Amino acid sequence: MPLTSSHLTQALKTVLDPDLGKDLVTLGMVKSAEMAGNVARVGVELTTPACPMKDKIRSDIELAIRNKAQEIGAGGVSVEVAFTADVRRPNEKTRGESNPLPNVRQIIAVGAGKGGVGKSTIAVNLAVSLARLGARTGLLDGDIYGPSAPTMLGLSALGTQTRDNLLLPFQVHGIKAMTIGKLVDADKPLIWRGPMAHGAFKQLATQTEWGELDYLIVDLPPGTGDVPLTLSQLLPLTGAVIVCTPQQVAQDDARRAVRMFQQLGVEVLGVVENMSYFVDDNGQEHDLFGRGGAQIMAETMQVPFLGALPLRTQLRVHSDSGTPLANWDHPSLGAELDRLAKNVASQVSIASLGGKYMMPTLSVRSS
Ligand code: ADP
Repeated sequence: MPLTSSHLTQALKTVLDPDLGKDLVTLGMVKSAEMAGNVARVGVELTTPACPMKDKIRSDIELAIRNKAQEIGAGGVSVEVAFTADVRRPNEKTRGESNPLPNVRQIIAVGAGKGGVGKSTIAVNLAVSLARLGARTGLLDGDIYGPSAPTMLGLSALGTQTRDNLLLPFQVHGIKAMTIGKLVDADKPLIWRGPMAHGAFKQLATQTEWGELDYLIVDLPPGTGDVPLTLSQLLPLTGAVIVCTPQQVAQDDARRAVRMFQQLGVEVLGVVENMSYFVDDNGQEHDLFGRGGAQIMAETMQVPFLGALPLRTQLRVHSDSGTPLANWDHPSLGAELDRLAKNVASQVSIASLGGKYMMPTLSVRSS
């Protein structure tokens, strides 16, 4: 008996999305499933272009269809899987009229228990990586006490522009970015009290013309004081990424940051261990701060570990020179950054869709 499209659907019902733990049909990810001669053509819409599980999903689909062909005694079949991606909205909060950023699908805060651990570096490179992987991405530098985006994105020669009373974001390195650092005198300290900081952040977030975005990465001020606390309540966050270095003292602060988000009801998407170890120019690895400390902290707090990033001179140099894309010219650094971004994207998909029943959207023609 030849394979039909309904056989393909039956086979695809046995293939689970490894992150979401449900089958592709139930999740509404199968957009087409048809036979053309002895070729099975399957179209799958991923929940993010930065999906780390693409290869696994492809091979699971091939296996399931071959097994089905064998079961019904169909002859040899070849399988072609085409992927598209559509970042879904996280939850009902983002649909309501009260949402100040209805055209942004996922808002991800990057926080840290203390300054200097690489929070802005991670935020910038997370945004650039997601954009390189195909997502429409924005970066909101909300670290109002120490905005880093002007330097890290090389914005010094660019002026701010407005249209219809909205700020136009800087379009650089494949992302859209906005920072308080371009709106105030960079050399004057920003001594703002809570309510002023609150107002400035809200204005920056909501009066920027972001357009349609899949991801908006928000670089929050460090720490667990009033300002990061109130700022993380102003936007409908999908969740927060906590950046931490491996030392015990840094872990203690990061633990407080994790608890702060949890108490606010903000999902902790996971912990990144930055400056995990140092790689010298000969590629030799040196353990400076107690590599693995943040990973153990994440495990004991039962939050996902998103990966480790070593201390690399090139990352610092490219951050200082405002050329983040140069990180992807390095033989390992770009891959390390992409791995982090993919892990974040997959936690975002889990936080948005995990455990929720999705209506199937596949319509099957009987043939
Ligand atoms: P934070 O936002 O937490 O205050 P930054 O992102 O500004 O920290 O980083 C502090 C400094 O450390 C910057 O000069 C940055 O370039 C550097 N840095 C951060 N992470 C790394 C890393 N993994 N390798 C090399 N330099 C790093």
